Amino acid sequence: MQKALVWFRKDLRIHDHEPLSKAVHHADKVLGIYCFDPRDYVLLPAGFPKTGSFRAKFILQSVAQLKNKLQEVGSELLVYVGKPEDVIPKLCEDLGVKEVYYHQEAAPEEKLVEDELENKLFKLKVTVKSFWGHTLFHPEDLPFPLKRLPELFTDFRKSVERESTVRSCVDAPQKINPITPIPYTQLPGIKELGLAEIEPDNRAVLSFRGGEDEALARLDNYFWSSNLLKQYKDTRNEMLGADYSTKFSAWLALGCISPRKIYEEITRYENTHVKNDSTYWLIFELMWRDYYRFIMLKHGSAIFNIGGLQNLPVKWKSNKDLFELWRNGKTGFPLIDANMQELLLTGFMSNRGRQNVASFLTKNLGLNWQLGAQWFESQLIDYDVCSNYGNWNYAAGIGNDARGFRYFNIVKQATQYDANGDYVRYWLPGLAKINGARAHQPYALKPNELRDYDFELTRDYWQPIVDLEKSVKENERMFNSALKVK
Ligand SMILES: Cc1cc2nc3c(=O)[nH]c(=O)nc-3n(C[C@H](O)[C@H](O)[C@H](O)COP(=O)(O)OP(=O)(O)OC[C@H]3O[C@@H](n4cnc5c(N)ncnc54)[C@H](O)[C@@H]3O)c2cc1C
Repeated sequence: MQKALVWFRKDLRIHDHEPLSKAVHHADKVLGIYCFDPRDYVLLPAGFPKTGSFRAKFILQSVAQLKNKLQEVGSELLVYVGKPEDVIPKLCEDLGVKEVYYHQEAAPEEKLVEDELENKLFKLKVTVKSFWGHTLFHPEDLPFPLKRLPELFTDFRKSVERESTVRSCVDAPQKINPITPIPYTQLPGIKELGLAEIEPDNRAVLSFRGGEDEALARLDNYFWSSNLLKQYKDTRNEMLGADYSTKFSAWLALGCISPRKIYEEITRYENTHVKNDSTYWLIFELMWRDYYRFIMLKHGSAIFNIGGLQNLPVKWKSNKDLFELWRNGKTGFPLIDANMQELLLTGFMSNRGRQNVASFLTKNLGLNWQLGAQWFESQLIDYDVCSNYGNWNYAAGIGNDARGFRYFNIVKQATQYDANGDYVRYWLPGLAKINGARAHQPYALKPNELRDYDFELTRDYWQPIVDLEKSVKENERMFNSALKVK
């Protein structure tokens, strides 16, 4: 009688889950296990919780739903607070389990846990079977070995588009026989994880709820019932509302939905509705996601170093006061402040917003990009180690494909992507009475114009914390001297 455990991590689903399907196929009795690893709930070096309350709540919801889904097919998800490399071997001994199945991760911390677990299980003569399942393209199907992964995204994309195909999804099991008697375990509350319960601001783009059903429902809504996919490429740079982009990121990050499932549905949409630039562009974005994961596999922990993947010795500043103004959305630049308020109060920010605030932190304030990356890590519901640190490397100009000092002109970006000022007024009520695009530069209003506005409400915004042009020039000099040293 073969007994197997399936270790769930950032793959909180039963559809397209190769370890689960293989375990059910090979073993007679199967249970799932999830560990809330205390190391994920410590403080980051910058002082923020490694997993903030918004994401912790989403994880708890996703785990609870996975438990229900496994129960529906006859099995169970055991839930523990503890290190997987301690909990799983003990459970194998207690239950007489001889096989453990799981999905591999890409980042060093997670891989270290895999190594330690495998070492312990080896000593117990428990067989470990690990699979890759987080990307659209399987690493074995890439046209190059990972160590020769192109350093330019475009080179990666073109060669993959030419030579690789996406594997089909694996079916969810219909019936699973559990190992009995099933040990009783219970989900922790958010307080047991050392976090406070917080409700997102009701202006949030979506009320994100964790779980496979919610992920599939969002897909159903975006593709089919609201038919938004056909215009994705035209709307994806907007910042206001639920519909400008898919909002799949949190469910993808926790594995409530697989990228191959999304791909399968895009293909179905292309065959039944329309195949256009928008349907292609969503695949293009999922390829960015793949790319950052493969970059992590190729380069490992270098991506976290202050010099980034380029190992560039930029003399970033670490002015705590300036950083706090950025973090709390009090820089005096409405585009930055509105986006940072959104992140602070809801755990989400659009891609356009993320690019602008990251550019502002590094190219206008000249602050250490790691502080920004850690704030995102703590706060984002959709935090994904590869996408976050990959994008921050890129924004700071120290990534694998760095192209010198590039920055976003905040005022230009504001007028291009929030032409009427609706987004900034939505998040910054102090600007409510400033009409149109003028809301982007309240500091530029003349004294006689102030009479038209409510000074009390808007006064937070009279004093920008830097001069946009001068700060960019100063930081460009700092950046270029690092290039010379290198
Ligand atoms: C500084 C910075 C930090 C970021 N941190 C994260 C992060 O921690 N987690 C995360 O999932 N994304 C991150 N992104 C990428 C991107 O901003 C989000 O994936 C996107 O905004 C999520 O919204 P969406 O699902 O509606 O995206 P859509 O526009 O609908 O895109 C569909 C999917 O494609 C993927 N995707 C899109 N853009 C990118 C990108 N630039 N890099 C990698 N994947 C992408 C995501 O999985 C996304 O869900 C970051 C971007 C920047 C500039």
